[in-house]
Amino acid sequence: MTPFVSPAAAALWERIPADSSLIFGPLALTRNPAGIDLRHRDDAGSDASSLRSIPSTDLPGLGQVDALGRFRPNKASPNLVRGWFHTAPDAPALDAALDAMLPGGLADWYAVQSGTAAPIPWQQYADRQTGMYRNVALMNEPEAEEVARAGCHPRCCTRQRLWTVGERPPEAVMEKSAVPCLEPCALLLELARRAQKTHATEERSTIVLTQSELVILDSLFNWALEHPDASLREGDLSSPGNPRRILLLREKLLPWLPDKPLGQAH
Ligand code: SF4
Repeated sequence: MTPFVSPAAAALWERIPADSSLIFGPLALTRNPAGIDLRHRDDAGSDASSLRSIPSTDLPGLGQVDALGRFRPNKASPNLVRGWFHTAPDAPALDAALDAMLPGGLADWYAVQSGTAAPIPWQQYADRQTGMYRNVALMNEPEAEEVARAGCHPRCCTRQRLWTVGERPPEAVMEKSAVPCLEPCALLLELARRAQKTHATEERSTIVLTQSELVILDSLFNWALEHPDASLREGDLSSPGNPRRILLLREKLLPWLPDKPLGQAH
């Protein structure tokens, strides 16, 4: 019996040209004579002989934890384990592999490709929150923009944010990957809740720093991002060392810093 081929998988299968790669979330998808090769995007240029071949049955477990064994709440995080590859011989196999590694990624990609995607703007999303998250709707646009920049930073997520916040336009594919994000996720919402609570309840301090002191402070932020506490879980936003919280604090320095984009982390 011929296996069912979803329109989304068929479209993606056709979209990847011969001997070429598509960056798809944390993955690189490359067409070769045996099918479509999946691997970590940072291993795209590695020789397959230097990577271990992973059977389809191991893919779901592979995406669950990072290299230190910590749970990955966001399957689009670049902290996916490296050093492996898997070959999907046909479109149904590609569909299953992506479902295991990046649930919802293919469907969201296809929704954009077929013109049916409807990204939900931040304020619309925030206005429908209830319970402990109801106050995120009270954030003003600059505060919400800071949360989006920090929470969706390429260090934290490879999805292309298509939902808008304030005057901030959607991200470009080049900034992230071909996999879109159509509405804020739970991690972003929790970061917003904490930011709103902080703004609303904590006293502010005033501090005057020289330009060189700001640069030192920024290098400390970079160091903290490059050397995260190995015991910290990505989803633990209560920890001051969480990368999203460090990036959110760094947002406050950005207007006074020389242009120094931060790279990705893993
Ligand atoms: S809201 Fe941001 S962090 Fe969450 S999945 Fe979308 S782009 Fe990624």
